[in-house]
Amino acid sequence: MSGDKKVILVTGGTGLVGKAIQTVVTEDERADEEWIFLGSKDGDLSDKIQTKAIFEKYRPTHVIHLAAMVGGLFHNMSHNLDFLRKNIHINDNVLQTSFETGVVKVVSCLSTCIFPDKTTYPIDESMVHNGPPHPSNFGYSYAKRLIDIYNRAYHEQHGCCFTSVIPCNVFGPHDNFSLESSHVIPALIRKMHDQIQKDNSENATFTVLGTGKPLRQFIFSLDLARLFLWVLREYNNVDPIILSVDEEDEVTISKAAETIAKAWDFRGRLVYDTSQADGQHKKTASNAKLRSFLPDFKFTPFSDAIQQTVEWFRENHKRDARL
Ligand code: NAP
Ligand code: GDP
Repeated sequence: MSGDKKVILVTGGTGLVGKAIQTVVTEDERADEEWIFLGSKDGDLSDKIQTKAIFEKYRPTHVIHLAAMVGGLFHNMSHNLDFLRKNIHINDNVLQTSFETGVVKVVSCLSTCIFPDKTTYPIDESMVHNGPPHPSNFGYSYAKRLIDIYNRAYHEQHGCCFTSVIPCNVFGPHDNFSLESSHVIPALIRKMHDQIQKDNSENATFTVLGTGKPLRQFIFSLDLARLFLWVLREYNNVDPIILSVDEEDEVTISKAAETIAKAWDFRGRLVYDTSQADGQHKKTASNAKLRSFLPDFKFTPFSDAIQQTVEWFRENHKRDARL
């Protein structure tokens, strides 16, 4: 490290959130920051030796830790053990290697879907460990909850500044649009594109899985990226902070599907396959802590962000395997 220059390593830097941080960093470059964005091709972080090699190569002073096995409801339901083990291994390697190599600060990523299933609303940061998570994604949830436990233990035993953020559902350019493992927004964008190729007449139907009634808070990846930069630069508490849109911006899955249909100019009819799982009914989170620091932060309106994501998919889907 030369002078006070920060070397910031972003694990999971090739994914939805990592790519958004890369975009935002280029709009707000700072002379004292060098950024490194890595994906799984640069090394498997579930392997301790490969993790150490990465840290020895890049010598980061700061880490944004995004790398994880990530997937939508249906992928989680069928792979709870894999989500649990993979994410525990990745997190243990990244946090312990950060400690061993003297990293000054680590910001890791939890999710609002790891909160207790039976709870009062809105959920806040104090409630992460207050009861079992929803059964559909307990593997992912317990692995993610442990990050907060690690952060407290590294702080208590060694004085480390390892912290975490808790985003609500994220979407945007570079999302995982695959049919097998995607979250609801990229899944619907991708499937509606495929439907429109076949038939976009008034007689066409498009199937949304579940009842369409569950509620979600969705954050545009570029808004989340701006908040991540603020956390890295300004937020120095070990306790997690929720990074979510406001409570009144929560939407139903059917509203999300209708917004996507409008963005694609889909002329047919939406139908609901109620034999499919709904997952958690809602996980409404309070962003009061975030608002106490950034009262004027402006989130991109949901329909604008959906339109930008659809346009990005339209322009890029032939180039990327995840599309
Ligand atoms: P993503 O698009 O699936 O990206 C995952 C990233 O992790 C990719 O860069 C991937 O590399 C990397 N990765 C996966 N396994 C790895 C391994 N064994 N070794 C090294 N790198 C590995 O996921 P995302 O949506 O950006 O999620 C980023 C973070 O946000 C995650 O921690 C996730 O839990 C959290 N989060 C996401 C959401 C959401 O709605 N998406 C909501 C809340 C929190 P390759 O692509 O090169 O394989
Ligand atoms: P969650 O927010 O963690 O539950 O994960 P998702 O992003 O996968 O959202 C799941 C919600 O969207 C559930 O209510 C599903 O029933 C609904 N949904 C509707 N169609 C789809 C789809 O094609 N894929 C996914 N993943 N979810 C869908």
